[in-house]
Amino acid sequence: MSCACCHTSPKQRRMNCPACGQVCLPVSMQTMRHQVQAPDNRHIVDGDYAFCANRDCSVGYFSVSATIPKAILRAFQPAQPAMLCHCFDISEAAYRAALAGGTAAAMKAFVVQQTQAKQCACEARNPAGRCCLAAFKQMEKAFSTA
Ligand SMILES: [Zn+2]
Repeated sequence: MSCACCHTSPKQRRMNCPACGQVCLPVSMQTMRHQVQAPDNRHIVDGDYAFCANRDCSVGYFSVSATIPKAILRAFQPAQPAMLCHCFDISEAAYRAALAGGTAAAMKAFVVQQTQAKQCACEARNPAGRCCLAAFKQMEKAFSTA
C-alpha cells in the first residue's frame, strides 16, 4: 500500500544504531526539532540523523558525531503510551484491542482516509518522521500469528 504522506525513498541511506546496532532510517531536521523537548531542541547540531525505532534502546536519534537519547523525546515520556499512529492518537494498545474486538478495520480505514487526504502530520508528529501505516500492518501480522 502506498499513501500520500510517504516521502520515503528506498535509496535513503540506512545507518546502524551505535548502541543496539539496529538498521535505522534517516530523519529530517524538521522531525527532530518537533520531537526533541525544550530546552534541548535549541541545541541540536545540524547533520544527517537517523532514528532508532528499537524501544529497548536508549538512543533516539544519532548522527556520525552526536546521539540524542529517547529520554528527551516527546514520544518516549513515561506518561506517553506506545503509539502506533501519532497523527491521530492511536496507541498500540488501542489498536491491539480493536484487533481483538473486530473493530480494527474501521480504525485503520480512518487513518488511511486521512493520510490519502493529506491530513496527517507524520513528519512532525511521528518520531520516525514517516507514515505509520506500515506499523499497522506489522501489528496485524503479529496479531494474526499470535
Ligand atoms: Zn538503537
